[in-house]
Amino acid sequence: MSAAYRHVRARRRWLPRVVWWLPRSTRLLWLRGLVGVLVAWGVGASWVLGSSRPLAGILLGRVVVIDPGHGGPDPGAVGPRGELEKDVVLGVSLHLRHYFTAAGARAILTRERDEDLSGLPPDVPDIKAIDLRRRVEIARGARADVFLCIHANATESSYWRGAQTFYRDNHPDSDRLARCIQRELVRVTRRTDRVALPGPKQYVLDNVPMPAVTVEVGFMSNPEEARLLTDSDYQKLVAWAIFLGTARYFAEGERP
Ligand SMILES: [Zn+2]
Repeated sequence: MSAAYRHVRARRRWLPRVVWWLPRSTRLLWLRGLVGVLVAWGVGASWVLGSSRPLAGILLGRVVVIDPGHGGPDPGAVGPRGELEKDVVLGVSLHLRHYFTAAGARAILTRERDEDLSGLPPDVPDIKAIDLRRRVEIARGARADVFLCIHANATESSYWRGAQTFYRDNHPDSDRLARCIQRELVRVTRRTDRVALPGPKQYVLDNVPMPAVTVEVGFMSNPEEARLLTDSDYQKLVAWAIFLGTARYFAEGERP
């Protein structure tokens, strides 16, 4: 081993220690910044999406409305250890906004905290209908290019697991958007081989004029998956898959 090489080795051993000594919040900030730079200018989409343009070029100026389901008095599905769908979907949506914003898109959340969008007391009749109408108004007002509704699934059986994307016939491109996102969920999370499907009647998807999907990020009724879905790193992974799938949708739409 040459002296110069030993010197490099010694420096390399110090770097992780220096990074480790930083406060956790600073480390996370650095990491988020790094991811943002990579997403925006990086690494282009050539190896991820089969496009020669960088992600920033594909997503710059796009308007994406992200709709974390439920909130406030409506918890959505509840996991076996009290995990709440409304918290899971908000976590995923906040990470998703970060990725879109870093890539130059305008990302708008219908809610940024644990709240009901009607702004009315929980005992008012029709509070849920008013909440859902408000979500549609936000998507319409923003003139969004795509609308991403984020939910988590639940069934009687605790057996089922895996993220799945659903669409309606509100727009001719909704099914392509759903297939692009599902493809990345399968590839990135490695926890699902589900396919994108037409979903049941859903007020919000049926009333927005742009391509729209509901991503069910996993099953709250599966104990292992419910625990995973509350983990911020796994929420980031799911958000990353949804982000890449949406980028793939835009990239494919631009091809001659
Ligand atoms: Zn839901």
